[in-house]
Amino acid sequence: MSRVCVFCGSKTGKRPLYAEVAGRLGRRLAGRGHDLVYGGGATGLMGVVADSILEAGGQAIGVIPRSMATREVAHPGLTRMHVVGTMHERKALMAELSDAFIALPGGFGTFEELLEMITWAQLGIHRKPVGLLNAGGYFDPLVEMFDRAVREGFVRPKYRSLCRVGAGVDELLSKLESRRGEICRAR
Ligand code: AMP
Repeated sequence: MSRVCVFCGSKTGKRPLYAEVAGRLGRRLAGRGHDLVYGGGATGLMGVVADSILEAGGQAIGVIPRSMATREVAHPGLTRMHVVGTMHERKALMAELSDAFIALPGGFGTFEELLEMITWAQLGIHRKPVGLLNAGGYFDPLVEMFDRAVREGFVRPKYRSLCRVGAGVDELLSKLESRRGEICRAR
């Protein structure tokens, strides 16, 4: 049993597939015995993941800055909501509370959160697995950018595998769960 932090859009995106995959992720997290940690919002894919895990009997923990903790933004029905002072405190607490990180499709906020967790793994600030749920190929250009950064000498080849990529929910969760085992054994 562990806590999985999900970064994802505060919007649902234009293709229905994105919300379908977010819903599946919430249900499978519950099914596999994981709790959700996320940004605490009620809108977009954030709301879909939280609603799905709660409906499936799992736990959803939100971490939201005070400035966003208004009724319209914050999800009213979470298992637990941490209200923090700043966006930086929020990311630090989300990272501390979680055992693994997954990004679903989203915008700048999602990119920033995902890339910070990969950077922190590279720097050894945490040793937790990071995964990209590449629903409908949404992240193909970003994955190509990662490979390009390796080819062009900006990212060491050994760090490329810090971000696992999967198109399917169970496929990605299995990758992250086995990576978690590797990390535990390495300690
Ligand atoms: P974006 O991908 O730009 O929609 O940003 C989504 C990410 O940024 C989420 O993982 C949240 O942590 C944070 N975020 C952005 N907008 C909101 C919001 N309205 N409510 C809660 N968190 C948000």
